[in-house]
Amino acid sequence: MTRVYGDMNLYVELQKEKFQISSEQYEEIMRGQKMFVGGGAAEVNQLRRQFLGMTKNQQERFLVELPRSALIEQLDDGLCLYRSKHALCGGNMAACRPADCNNALVSIDGKRKSFQWRKHENTRLLNFFRHDQPKVVYLIARNDQLDKLLLQIDQAEMV
Ligand code: SF4
Repeated sequence: MTRVYGDMNLYVELQKEKFQISSEQYEEIMRGQKMFVGGGAAEVNQLRRQFLGMTKNQQERFLVELPRSALIEQLDDGLCLYRSKHALCGGNMAACRPADCNNALVSIDGKRKSFQWRKHENTRLLNFFRHDQPKVVYLIARNDQLDKLLLQIDQAEMV
């Protein structure tokens, strides 16, 4: 780690800052009204119910505990509550599978149109790159994730 950051103090400072930011994000998630989809949504909804049934002191302790089990990373479409044992991407965020991974949390706000548009673009690219096998595989996998997320949005909105 020291080699990567050059200075251990810098690494410790960055981790502290990440911890603080994650703690604030957890508070927003727990107290907020946002609806979430993604592979981690069911677990987070369960934690929210638990949180709302706690006393103020218990809630404060809970919010300190949460970042200890998973720091939050920003993804293109949502959040990653990163725990290595659940990471379907194996730590490579470029290979994120938000619909399936139990670390993923995606707020549904404004996402339907954006996912539909991306699916449309991917389909257009699939036709364009139809002879390029790796690109075809990649785009099919992206559309599979988008289909699942759109289905999850449908289901969340029905509740
Ligand atoms: S698949 Fe996505 S949500 Fe899951 S660990 Fe990787 S980056 Fe995080």
